[in-house]
Amino acid sequence: MSQWRHWNLCRVVLFVLLPALTIAQPPPHEIRVISKDGTGSIPISEFSGTEMIPLRRAASFIGASVRPGSEPNAVTVSGNGKLARISDGKNFVPVAANLVLLQSPARLVGGEWFVPLDFLTKVLPSLATEAVAYRGNDRMLILGADYPEVEVRSHHAPTFTRVFLDSDRVVPLAIEDAEAEAGGVIRVTLDTPFLRTSYRGETNIDDVVERISLERRGSTYVLVVELGENYGSLRTERRGNGIVLNLVRSRVPTRGTGTAEELEWDLSERDEPGDEEAELGEDESNPNAEIIELREDYHLPAAPPEFPSDPDGPARLRIVTLDPGHGGAETGAEGQGGSLEKGVVLSICRRFRRLLQTRLGIRVILTRDGDSDLSLDERAAFANKNKSDLFISVHADASPRRNARGSSVYFLSYSSTAQNASSGGDDLDFILWHMAQASHLRQSSQLAEVMQEELQAVTGTERVNRGIKQNTFRVLKGATMPAVLVEVGFISNTEEERLLSSADYQEKLAEALYRGLVRYKDIFERGGSADRTRRSQR
Ligand SMILES: [Zn+2]
Repeated sequence: MSQWRHWNLCRVVLFVLLPALTIAQPPPHEIRVISKDGTGSIPISEFSGTEMIPLRRAASFIGASVRPGSEPNAVTVSGNGKLARISDGKNFVPVAANLVLLQSPARLVGGEWFVPLDFLTKVLPSLATEAVAYRGNDRMLILGADYPEVEVRSHHAPTFTRVFLDSDRVVPLAIEDAEAEAGGVIRVTLDTPFLRTSYRGETNIDDVVERISLERRGSTYVLVVELGENYGSLRTERRGNGIVLNLVRSRVPTRGTGTAEELEWDLSERDEPGDEEAELGEDESNPNAEIIELREDYHLPAAPPEFPSDPDGPARLRIVTLDPGHGGAETGAEGQGGSLEKGVVLSICRRFRRLLQTRLGIRVILTRDGDSDLSLDERAAFANKNKSDLFISVHADASPRRNARGSSVYFLSYSSTAQNASSGGDDLDFILWHMAQASHLRQSSQLAEVMQEELQAVTGTERVNRGIKQNTFRVLKGATMPAVLVEVGFISNTEEERLLSSADYQEKLAEALYRGLVRYKDIFERGGSADRTRRSQR
């Protein structure tokens, strides 16, 4: 098979666009910027049909400085100890040792510099000292990843209206005015100075709830639920890290009196994939149905809810799933000398497993321990089922550029998932995954970073830092634990192919992966709040 075929196998098969969040709103002509210090915006301008943003404004949010370059039509942007050089009319941007290709050229217009939107994903993160995530779908730039992600949605049913508040981690919350009557207001205070959300409020929901908004107030956020004339009473229940407000209707319509419009609403709601009411058992489309059994009344916590105590003490790294890429009929990339990716990566994974088991006593599970076929979804499902603490997918790279070489480590990003979530598909899957994986982002990036450092020492690619890349690899998408995808080297490069098929070199790579994992284990077991959150979700 040609190099291109291998390239395609390795990339295109893995690059499955994520399914969609069906939000049919016209994109706003500015980018909302969210950081610990509050919110801001970057205006979007259009130049011959291309959306662009002012460079200085974008740079200001990460504290990067923009200065005239050595050439007349160039500027340098510096931050985080790195420099990026932007030239008028050029779409390539040298950033430290890398060359980044933007979707369209930078422009100097009336003394002001403009760059295309992918500057936010391709350049800005390198120049920032904190995490930067751009969610194209929401037109939202998020600085600093360590905030709770909160989403709100409402669901109308004949007998009650439900408001779901979901969070990717535990946020202390309190309900005020739970005794409010029709026409009054119920408030849920979330004790966090900052959160990430795409929720923008709702109005005219029904006659039980008139309006819902989520507002920042001082060092907290408040979910404000304005009650309608037919509101009767409130029942609350916990759900994951969040809460559900069941706003019970005062006058329950009897069977058959629902308007055609109401019934239609119900039908469409039941088809909505994001609808999880089924798990609660009662047929709520039946207007005579009793109010669903509430699993647990939620009483206002006087103190923040505690994490479940861990009988084994602090978090420990116990189980690791290794995923040798490809297998069976799917060979992966093939080198000119005939080496197959599927064989090379299996051999490396087996060596890596031996080191982890004998030296650390960690339980290691291989998604395949032979030449078998596995779908990408099965691989992640395997790691989930085995309650793994880590998921590491191992591959060998291929490129039409024969001299491409070196290792790369990938983890999943918010931005790439949001950008790809644009049409059709299983929304629920996406949202659930997003909620699950978001809390692991920091750990995935830590693991990717240390593994890449250790691999570079072996593959000798320090000069050309291929860096940690974030990508929508479907195999990572399904994992509900910190997950990375490792490309150990280019099998399409003749020299690396030779190395990759030698036992010596495979052992060196396994040792590098091992050292990376030991470093990560240290970080992990020292424990951060994110670790504890993840464990509490088990
Ligand atoms: Zn591969």
